[in-house]
Amino acid sequence: MRHIAVIGAGITGVTTAYALRDQGYEVTVFDRHRYAAMETSFANGGQLSASNAEVWNHWTTILKGVKWMFRRDAPLLMNPAPSWHKYSWAAEFVRHIADYRANTIATARLAIKARECLFALAARENIAFDHQTRGILHIYRNRTGFAHAARVNALLAEGGLDRRPVTPDEIRTIEPALAEDYHGGFFTPSDSTGDIHKFTRGLADACERRGVRFVFDAAVGPIRHTATGVEIGWSDGRAKSDRAPPPETLAVDGVVICAGVASRAFAATLGDRVNIYPVKGYSITVHLDDDESRQAAPWVSILDDDAKIVTSRLGADRFRVAGTAEFNGLNRDIRADRIAPLIDWSRRLFPAMSTERVTPWSGLRPMMPNMMPRIGAGRKPGIFYNTGHGHLGWTLAAGTAEIVAAQIRATLPPV
Ligand SMILES: Cc1cc2nc3c(=O)[nH]c(=O)nc-3n(C[C@H](O)[C@H](O)[C@H](O)COP(=O)(O)OP(=O)(O)OC[C@H]3O[C@@H](n4cnc5c(N)ncnc54)[C@H](O)[C@@H]3O)c2cc1C
Repeated sequence: MRHIAVIGAGITGVTTAYALRDQGYEVTVFDRHRYAAMETSFANGGQLSASNAEVWNHWTTILKGVKWMFRRDAPLLMNPAPSWHKYSWAAEFVRHIADYRANTIATARLAIKARECLFALAARENIAFDHQTRGILHIYRNRTGFAHAARVNALLAEGGLDRRPVTPDEIRTIEPALAEDYHGGFFTPSDSTGDIHKFTRGLADACERRGVRFVFDAAVGPIRHTATGVEIGWSDGRAKSDRAPPPETLAVDGVVICAGVASRAFAATLGDRVNIYPVKGYSITVHLDDDESRQAAPWVSILDDDAKIVTSRLGADRFRVAGTAEFNGLNRDIRADRIAPLIDWSRRLFPAMSTERVTPWSGLRPMMPNMMPRIGAGRKPGIFYNTGHGHLGWTLAAGTAEIVAAQIRATLPPV
């Protein structure tokens, strides 16, 4: 039986490991943390959203970015300090404006397929992840935003998605908890939400039951080619350098890089260019401790396109609010001035919900300049990628895992 290593136990790594095991491979997953889903797949916006398939490569994103550049609470923030990677990535992002239409349609198609894969996995393995199937509601405060969304709708429809315009009155009926007035909205009944962390941990357990081996606390590197395959080197991520045990190695037939924002560095050592930039985002989890807050928080998932904020109701007593895009390298600090707008927004839209107990979090979206995940073989034999899912990794991962597993099967059959 051929043996494949997967680097990374986030949502992309664990779905990939499951798909490979299902195809009959021996699979070993490595992660530098002690548990699965401890980095970007920890506390994201929770939306399984084909309706959010629009890629960001559009002139309006650039104009908004420039306008917001010096506002510390802006939804999009670029640290202007010089960095070759940041500015070359931005230049490539601009070049891909030409692909906006095709990539938005392709992402919608992939998202629809991927959610079918994810629902099937959850049902097959009986994974509880606070899944809410009440749809996603996009809200707009002015005519300009609504008109742009109508143009996006035509592309989503080409990708096969049914997202319909709704009036201010319909918005109030769909989600009565929403305060403030809106120009209009779009509603996607087939979209849903859930806890990415619970799902990934549940699927990792299922993988183990099916015979996948997990090596945690393992800082992987280097990955080398040998005459017969690939050699994975790793050291104990917890060890102090003066008392560290010698690095360990494992010989495998192939490897899939699913290392989130670290994938770019791995690719560089393997002769591939996977130009991922870490685009930081923040979330808050509002703990709905009293009855009034539980009543006042919405059940339908909201996407506020002007504020670039998304929400998910994670069971009766948790409400997740996420957003902002910050270009500041691998910095993971949780900044108070970036968390405050999420709390203010929640107070304005859901005034009777208490924000007394709120857990803040930050994560790094592994973002390609064309906003499309990198799926498939590298230059050298036995090297594969399933990474770079950006702002839609939770939505897309179960689908891209199937794609990469099928490609591996075509070049390196399991037996
Ligand atoms: C604020 C925010 C909100 C979001 N909201 C949504 C949403 O609503 N819907 C949606 O679809 N997506 C959303 N996303 C995007 C989604 O969360 C990500 O695309 C997804 O979690 C990325 O998963 P991953 O497996 O690629 O990366 P990760 O989850 O980061 O996993 C990579 C793993 O690789 C491991 N690793 C890296 N280097 C090494 C090494 N050297 N050795 C060993 N292990 C290593 C890491 O420890 C990590 O566990 C959001 C992201 C953010 C930040």
